Amino acid sequence: MSAIRLRKSDQVVAVGGRDAGKKGKVLKILPNRYRAIVEGICMVTEHQRPTRDNPKGGVIRREGTVHLSNLMLVCPRCAKPTRISHTILADGSKKRTCKRCKEII
Ligand SMILES: [Zn+2]
Repeated sequence: MSAIRLRKSDQVVAVGGRDAGKKGKVLKILPNRYRAIVEGICMVTEHQRPTRDNPKGGVIRREGTVHLSNLMLVCPRCAKPTRISHTILADGSKKRTCKRCKEII
């Protein structure tokens, strides 16, 4: 399993599955499952049983989880889907850099 390179609030694009090509913002990373929840991607329909508060029950749409291998970061600098590399700076801190434009993300 490769390291998780995405973070919450990253802009990503789906590269596989039925939502391929769609962009969205990472809402949550689920590191144990190597998945993420991304705004507007992999929407699932959930049926709710009727309850006292909601006697008719209903259908809600919410984001399902997407495997991280199906997501690519959209670089905020060059606005293109990119791969990330990690660069260790002189002070020892680790930064993510875009493989296209080499900018620190
Ligand atoms: Zn870039």
